[in-house]
Amino acid sequence: MVRQHKTIFVDIDTQHDFMDPHGALYVPSAEQIVPNLRRLFATATEYGIPVVSTADYHTTDDPEFSAYNFPPHCVVGTPGQQRLADTLLADRAHLDPEELIDDIDRLLEHHAQVVFRKRTLDVWTSASARRLLEQVHADAWYVFGVATDYCVKSAALGLAKIGQPTYVVTDAVKAITPQGEQAALNEMRASGAQFVTTDQVIQALRQTHAPTTR
Ligand SMILES: [Zn+2]
Repeated sequence: MVRQHKTIFVDIDTQHDFMDPHGALYVPSAEQIVPNLRRLFATATEYGIPVVSTADYHTTDDPEFSAYNFPPHCVVGTPGQQRLADTLLADRAHLDPEELIDDIDRLLEHHAQVVFRKRTLDVWTSASARRLLEQVHADAWYVFGVATDYCVKSAALGLAKIGQPTYVVTDAVKAITPQGEQAALNEMRASGAQFVTTDQVIQALRQTHAPTTR
């Protein structure tokens, strides 16, 4: 059975190794989106929007590093693997990469934020994340975070390709390279994803959601 939500936020890899200028795989200018991330998280709390977050969760010699020529990053147990305090809600659940939960929608219903730990660029390769797509649909999925040309792109394409209404929040994403960014935006647009700003997200939610006391 599929449960239809109005809105779901998809917060990709907003972790110190990507977001901080001294992080292991710093996404250039990523710190500039932090004010918009704060606004989106405040809005999620205000309206009770479920937040699906992802977090890279690598071993020290993860095959991804050499496959993509990435420096080691987001290694389990390191400070760089932690998400920013700005993108953590107090009431959250974490799922390990191989962890499989039967009723993922129930988890989403009982926690403000569900963090999918992952070892791959594409969150939808994890069993629980695939199950989320099977069990949960939404009128709008708002995707933001880093990096536009890698994990944000995979997340948005995975949603758009199964026909879910997908919106990329363009002033709350950052890319590793400008060329990669342009190619990723083109690919996402071609797959049906639409582009919105943080202001537009907040305005849309004001019209469709009532504030919650959760
Ligand atoms: Zn990674």
